[in-house]
Amino acid sequence: MTLPISFEFFPPKTDVGADKLLTIAAQFQAFKPDYFSVTYGAGGSTRERTLSIVSSLNGQGAPIRPHLSCIGDSRAHIADLLTIYQAQGLSHLVALRGDLPSRQVGLGELPYARDLVEFIRAKTGDYFHIAVAAYPEMHPQAPSFALDMDYLAQKFNAGANSAITQFFFNADSYFYLSCEMQKRGIDKPIVAGIMPIIHASNLIRFSDACGADIPRWIRKKLADYGDDSASIKAFGLEVVVKLCERLIAGGVPSLHFYSMNQYEPTAAIIDALNLSPSATV
Ligand code: FAD
Repeated sequence: MTLPISFEFFPPKTDVGADKLLTIAAQFQAFKPDYFSVTYGAGGSTRERTLSIVSSLNGQGAPIRPHLSCIGDSRAHIADLLTIYQAQGLSHLVALRGDLPSRQVGLGELPYARDLVEFIRAKTGDYFHIAVAAYPEMHPQAPSFALDMDYLAQKFNAGANSAITQFFFNADSYFYLSCEMQKRGIDKPIVAGIMPIIHASNLIRFSDACGADIPRWIRKKLADYGDDSASIKAFGLEVVVKLCERLIAGGVPSLHFYSMNQYEPTAAIIDALNLSPSATV
């Protein structure tokens, strides 16, 4: 089965972590990924670390797509980053609003991701391929599901080339989102974001924070396994592989893996799917 795949990393906090991530990225190269993406802390909180790991990864194989967020940041800061990335020959970005820490107030000069997309297009024309975030189960702060879909369509209409979804475990929510975009005249690729199930408690905490639903039966089974991490991993692998199989059968254009900077859990999914790489989305 051929399909483009990509992997997401977060910038490590230490030099040891950065070295480890470079090793993991080298292992992932064997899957011939479409690209690696690197997250960016809202308000510029990981600016230096993101720049550093992007620079270390750049030119080592798969293209790098840095994430860029706008909330709490200035146009001047964002313009600097665009200049840096252009100078490094990077031509793809993931453009996000970001989430400010609760103690930080003030939305900054570009309050929504759509504003960021407009700003990038105004500054750099068509130079960058821009991916934006999409939420099959609705962004937790959205006023309504319909408005969240409208806002996603606005990001495409502002110049986004593709979207990557928040992770989800219900394939129907992805297909429904795709239909909602078609109804709004959007035919750009919507890449499915896939989260491996590694630790039950981390997954539940993360899902609760970002509004991704863990179906009740999955929560219950994870609870039953308690501290039995081998059973959690085996069950998680089965669940996520079946999810990917349904998405592939339904025509998903690409899979984007939230690697959590770990090789084995994501590699096990790709091995089980028997995926070979194909062209860029
Ligand atoms: P937006 O599209 O701006 O939407 C944010 C909220 O505002 C939504 O509820 C939307 O419905 C609402 N909205 C949009 N436009 C309007 C409007 N005109 N009026 C009123 N309401 C509006 N976060 C990071 O900090 N760094 C990262 O690197 C990062 N990477 C991510 C990668 C992916 C693939 C995904 C799915 C998420 C990522 N996030 C990241 C998390 C993301 O920043 C948060 O989910 C954030 O809360 C929303 O970002 P957004 O780009 O979707 O925002």
